[in-house]
Amino acid sequence: MTRLGEVLARAVRERHALARDELAQLLEQTDPGARRDIYAAAYEVKVRHTGKVVSLRGIVEMGNVCAKNCLYCGIRRDNRALDRFQLDEAAVLEAVQRNLDLHYGSLVLQSGEIESEAHTAFIERLLRAIAARAGEALGITLSLGEQTGETYARWRAAGAHRYLLRIETSNPRLYARLHPADHSFERRRDCLRLLRACDYQVGSGVMCGLPGQTCGDLADDILFFREMDLDMIGMGPYIPHRDTPLGHDIPFTEAYAASRLALGLNMIAATRLYLHDVNIAATTALQALADDGREQGVLAGANVIMPNVSDVAYRRRYQLYENKPCLDENAEACRHCLAMRLRSIGETINWDRRGDSPHYAARNQRPHG
Ligand code: SAH
Ligand code: SF4
Repeated sequence: MTRLGEVLARAVRERHALARDELAQLLEQTDPGARRDIYAAAYEVKVRHTGKVVSLRGIVEMGNVCAKNCLYCGIRRDNRALDRFQLDEAAVLEAVQRNLDLHYGSLVLQSGEIESEAHTAFIERLLRAIAARAGEALGITLSLGEQTGETYARWRAAGAHRYLLRIETSNPRLYARLHPADHSFERRRDCLRLLRACDYQVGSGVMCGLPGQTCGDLADDILFFREMDLDMIGMGPYIPHRDTPLGHDIPFTEAYAASRLALGLNMIAATRLYLHDVNIAATTALQALADDGREQGVLAGANVIMPNVSDVAYRRRYQLYENKPCLDENAEACRHCLAMRLRSIGETINWDRRGDSPHYAARNQRPHG
């Protein structure tokens, strides 16, 4: 058996079985044959834990107003070339109803970061209205950035089950280069701990292919996911945006897209091979790099897809990165297209099911400590 074959066989048998260097070696692979073997091994682990089934979460982009100024993001506070919008309760509930009608089973409410009592209370009201309409059968995920423990607790009590907050990179020096000085790596890490304490299913993740990031950094990110005992991982390639300090001079060529896609898929596979029972999303950023990027993500070990259920009228104003796909396809068209695409790779959709993370169920059966 080749050395790669031995590493993969060990990783498939047992979680947490790879050393940092071995993870970095998987992440570095560019050879097509080796990558095929890595993805096949990761897919085997995915199928063992979640079956040949993909769970969906309809994403509602609620607003592009953001107090933060992350150097990579198209809706950062200082991007003046952008019309700001914020959906009201009726408009969000319309998107929620669309999600229910589409039978997606779970919902993600996402927006820029706003910390204020008015906003906290708005989200609280919204969550109660959604719970009244959909009950416990609908999985509700928030992706609203850094907040106080009190705010997280209020939203959890109002009906949210899950929270997504990417660490972006677990390397504090790289984090500091991607954010202005008043953004804090420590606060972000502490927020993940607060979310755990509030009994959310906690999701985090990173961008891959950031300027200055190495495969060693990405291997450390995977070790960080384990250390934080995360339930859900959402990772995607970094995609430059011209109206940002980080992205304005990075040319977006075909070769660039291909290399970023390969790295994103390697990261999904290595994470699946190391953590085994978490939910992993094949994110829309993969689809921005290749038409079938999300299907490739599933075949590399992902088991969650987050189709956009936002009103098409607002999508152009919520471009965290450029090349965002499906700007003009409404949610019904996306549903049809996605179902066909998944069928073509032998996967079915977990219609009307929350698709909770198996890791969350497992850690709740373990004694706390
Ligand atoms: N404001 C919230 C949610 C919206 S941003 C938050 O920051 O958590 C959601 C994610 O978009 C971020 O975590 C980041 O990883 C991703 N993102 C932002 N800019 C990006 C870019 N240029 N390329 C790829 N992903 C990006
Ligand atoms: Fe705001 Fe999130 Fe973009 Fe940072 S990544 S600028 S917090 S929307």
